[in-house]
Amino acid sequence: MNLDFWDKARAFHGHACPGLAIGVRVCDAVVEKMGASPSFDEELVCIVENDACGVDAIQALIGCTFGKGNLIYKNTGKNAYTFFDRQKGKAMRFYFKKKMPDMEREAFQQYLLDAPVDELFDCKEVAWDIPSHARIFASVICEICGESAAENKIRVQNGKKVCLDCFTNYSRIIIQGGIA
Ligand SMILES: [Zn+2]
Ligand SMILES: [Zn+2]
Repeated sequence: MNLDFWDKARAFHGHACPGLAIGVRVCDAVVEKMGASPSFDEELVCIVENDACGVDAIQALIGCTFGKGNLIYKNTGKNAYTFFDRQKGKAMRFYFKKKMPDMEREAFQQYLLDAPVDELFDCKEVAWDIPSHARIFASVICEICGESAAENKIRVQNGKKVCLDCFTNYSRIIIQGGIA
């Protein structure tokens, strides 16, 4: 385990926890299996399938962040992380396969930090299409509240262009289903 990774991830996340340890080991797996170095642009793209503690390790360590558009949230609720290396044209999915064992939280966290990555994850090459570069959308003014929103989030209701807040059939699915 990369100790430097663990320290950096803890500083970013604000506490140590088993979930963060899983995220740190995902980053170890990316380095080990994909030969990736931390990405300072959009060469590395990650799809995370949960929004728990481990995602903070990925944002802190491997250069995939929501702000840069190379971290995509796919809400399946799975402990799975897929990385695309645009330069190498390679994609791998890391699925955390361990069940919560009958062990103290601290001991489990230490186990997660020490175990070989193959013991923790199913590491598979996948043939998924590489997500397109983050797009900048034009802004549209909502005809009800007057606030401006990205064009791809605007709906048409009674002939008016409206934002998701003003759209009456609004449901969480509209936002969460949005795989860029
Ligand atoms: Zn945590
Ligand atoms: Zn509105």
